[in-house]
Amino acid sequence: MDRIQFQELDIRKEIIRAIADMGFEEMTPIQAKAIPIILEGADVVGQAQTGTGKTATFAIPILNKIDPKLKKPQALIVCPTRELAIQVADEIRKLAKFLSSIKVLPIYGGQEIAKQIRSLKSGVQIIVGTPGRIMDHMRRKTVKFDQIHSVVLDEADEMLDMGFREDIETILSGIDENRQTLLFSATMPKPIMDLTKEYQRDPETIRVIRKELTVSNITQYYYEVRPKNKVEVLSRLLDIYNPKISIVFCNTKKGVDELVEELQGRGYFADGLHGDMKQTMRDRVMKSFRNGRTEILVATDVAARGIDVDDVDAVFNYDLPQDEEYYVHRIGRTGRAGKSGMAFTFVVGREVYKLRDIKRYCKAKIKVQPIPSLNDVTEQRVVKLFEHLDQIIEDGKLDRYISMIDDFVNEKDYTAMDVAAAFLADQLIRTEYGNSKQDEFDDTGAEEEGMVRLFINVGKKQNVRPGDVLGAIAGESGIPGKLVGSIDIHDRYTFVEVPRDVAEDVLDAMKNVKLKGKTISVEPANHK
Ligand code: ADP
Ligand code: MG
Repeated sequence: MDRIQFQELDIRKEIIRAIADMGFEEMTPIQAKAIPIILEGADVVGQAQTGTGKTATFAIPILNKIDPKLKKPQALIVCPTRELAIQVADEIRKLAKFLSSIKVLPIYGGQEIAKQIRSLKSGVQIIVGTPGRIMDHMRRKTVKFDQIHSVVLDEADEMLDMGFREDIETILSGIDENRQTLLFSATMPKPIMDLTKEYQRDPETIRVIRKELTVSNITQYYYEVRPKNKVEVLSRLLDIYNPKISIVFCNTKKGVDELVEELQGRGYFADGLHGDMKQTMRDRVMKSFRNGRTEILVATDVAARGIDVDDVDAVFNYDLPQDEEYYVHRIGRTGRAGKSGMAFTFVVGREVYKLRDIKRYCKAKIKVQPIPSLNDVTEQRVVKLFEHLDQIIEDGKLDRYISMIDDFVNEKDYTAMDVAAAFLADQLIRTEYGNSKQDEFDDTGAEEEGMVRLFINVGKKQNVRPGDVLGAIAGESGIPGKLVGSIDIHDRYTFVEVPRDVAEDVLDAMKNVKLKGKTISVEPANHK
């Protein structure tokens, strides 16, 4: 296919150089179609799925249009979440790497406003912000918007879903009508069309929708469940298919929180991600998911937008998505780069009709499956174990063990079958316990809800003082000192409480740490 290339664009050389530096070889379809039109100055509505390079699509023409000598805001990019605002600002900075004196600033709630105002006054030309915070600055008149010639609404569908419609309208009404307005969205529901009609001038609509909406290498199943059985069914599927990395989608933030708690309670390495979480917490969750410590990420559609993790083995629609397109977005998280993936969807009652619409919309084969029984779970575990045994038997070198079993069987008058069965039974019980490593945090006798009480084998006799314990934990694990709870120092040992979600990290960090010259051991306290 002959797509125009970055080098053919009539833009500043420095931008072309930055694009090459970023390693982009060719334009994505939305870039090839939209950038030339945006460069001409037209308003554009761009629809393409997540991960198709929409940021560079608007960022390249905008950077080309910024007057570096004018130290005033010239472009405004509105994003639904601070995470996205930061991501977009980063991408723009990379593209502006070789352009001297172009300043990009992300602004969002939670940041100290006085500091933001100072930064804004220092000659920022491109503002990337969340609607609420932008409105704030407009109201306070801390920023002059009179030189803004380009406005972008990024992830417009998400912003409307999050209830930002009025804010967006206020923002757009406060900016000179002679501006260029660009709107990007992964989906195009009616409210978006209304917005473009009202606030854009003869917009060109550019859609790049994958022809094959769902990829054939994703196996798609659905289960008819009752709400109160969902956690159990999810657990069984996790045990049977044993995905290394999976994403579970819920429709609400509350749903995410509740499910994470349930899964953690059952011993799964699950963590949640949603819009109400503090940035530091989200960063921590994403880091843990990337390095494999968190195996199950429970997320809302909005929060999952920013995730760029490739090796997802399975996607669970714990709640049926509200929008047909969301189904495609969600399951598109798995089966990437030619790998196979699995998608499991839970359907409650009349939701089967909605599922029928989804099937029709994406022309997908989503097959109904019976809910796996506990026996199925065990059977599957046995299958895995036997596969493992195949390997060991093939490798040979079992003579020594055979003679040990032989002695045992003869001595006790057992059959070899008895012994094999006993091993299997024991192994199955073990894997069951193995699945609940986090149980040791369940009852440590912590006073405060959500905390884990840790035991440290030094105390007053070793001259340990609260500051020493606090310093060691904060210093070694990097968690803020204020997260550390009560510290209770006895003669020869100490109890300290830390939040459950960092307890693993603290335990890891405290291995081989010295306190008052003594190598200490830290473990979850036993509550008797
Ligand atoms: P979207 O906004 O459509 O979800 P992004 O703009 O966040 O997608 O882009 C997704 C990723 O693809 C980013 O890491 C970005 O740097 C990268 N990317 C963008 N354009 C190209 C390109 N032409 N070639 C290679 N990678 C690209
Ligand atoms: Mg984007």
